[in-house]
Amino acid sequence: MIRPVSHVAAMSPYALAQLDPPAGQRLVSLSQNESLRPPSPLIAQAVAEAAANGHLYPDPDWTALCARLAELHDLPEQGLLCGNGSMELIAGLAQAFAGPDAAVLAPANAYPFFRTVAQLARARFDTAAEVDGCVSFDALLAAVQPDTRLVFVANPGNPTGTRISRRDLLRLREGLRENTLLVIDEAYGEFADDLNEPMFDLVARGDTVVLRTLSKAYGLAGFRVGWGLFPPQIAVQIRKVMNPNNVSVCGQAAALAALNDQDYMHETCDLTAELRDRFADRLRSAGFDVPKSHTNFLLIRFADQSTATGADKALREKGIFLRPQSGAGLANCLRATIGQTADLELMAAVLDRWAEEFQP
Ligand code: PMP
Repeated sequence: MIRPVSHVAAMSPYALAQLDPPAGQRLVSLSQNESLRPPSPLIAQAVAEAAANGHLYPDPDWTALCARLAELHDLPEQGLLCGNGSMELIAGLAQAFAGPDAAVLAPANAYPFFRTVAQLARARFDTAAEVDGCVSFDALLAAVQPDTRLVFVANPGNPTGTRISRRDLLRLREGLRENTLLVIDEAYGEFADDLNEPMFDLVARGDTVVLRTLSKAYGLAGFRVGWGLFPPQIAVQIRKVMNPNNVSVCGQAAALAALNDQDYMHETCDLTAELRDRFADRLRSAGFDVPKSHTNFLLIRFADQSTATGADKALREKGIFLRPQSGAGLANCLRATIGQTADLELMAAVLDRWAEEFQP
């Protein structure tokens, strides 16, 4: 009998959305927080040219990409790392800085991949309770243990869509020990109203990492390109655990072209924010509880879990897939990605009809 190592045997596979519309129904996927539109048209030529170099391994140092990122965000190039999606960087952080003798801490309703990477590193995964769907700094600080080596906080948060102010993040950092690495995951940062509060300057302290991705605002989820600014001594360790040829030639070319079309990215964010706020209002006026979101998705809160499951079933019957939630205090919620207007109209119409029939 061939057996996996015990900590892998004990894990469940990472749960991606099951998208299986009823026979004959068009699939409407509002479940993966993808961009509502394809990436900048400028990437087509860049990718075609890169494909001609497909017989060569990609640049292991992402040189052109890092130079452009440094220029755009006014960052030092030293300490910039690109990943096969920011997931690879999150995994690398846990692999290099957590382990059987250490704990990883995150808010209870944080992005579930934080737990997965802690389990893979055989580290203990601790969670801190949230208050009204928002990260509670007091709870996070109270949950810190002597062996807490890594703290993950997504800002804005997934699946809550809420954001944390710079002042609060500074307060969190000040409250952590200096041997605890704080990771601020800004996967949805471009959608937040206050992009002008970047946290990159904290990285110079040597104990903080800021992650970003091109999967969301730049619409490159399918190309798998994430990046982060790391203190150089941390970056050296992460590189040891990463695949040295992690971002394909087409991925690097697409990312560079997308970064070179900032107008398109800002237009995507404006379009997303306009639709997000319009549909949040529409759902609220139909009686649903929808907290203010700073991302490209909405969290829709139902009376209880069985009500949420009923609404989810009604949507699936029409081929519309939202993401049901299971986290503490969120089992009565569905998360809806801001997709095309017509798809959101369809979702809202199904929810309206369902609410007329089933909501008290
Ligand atoms: N962080 C958060 C908070 C996310 O929601 C996601 C994707 N859903 C990621 C990181 C990973 O993004 P990617 O690997 O596509 O860059």
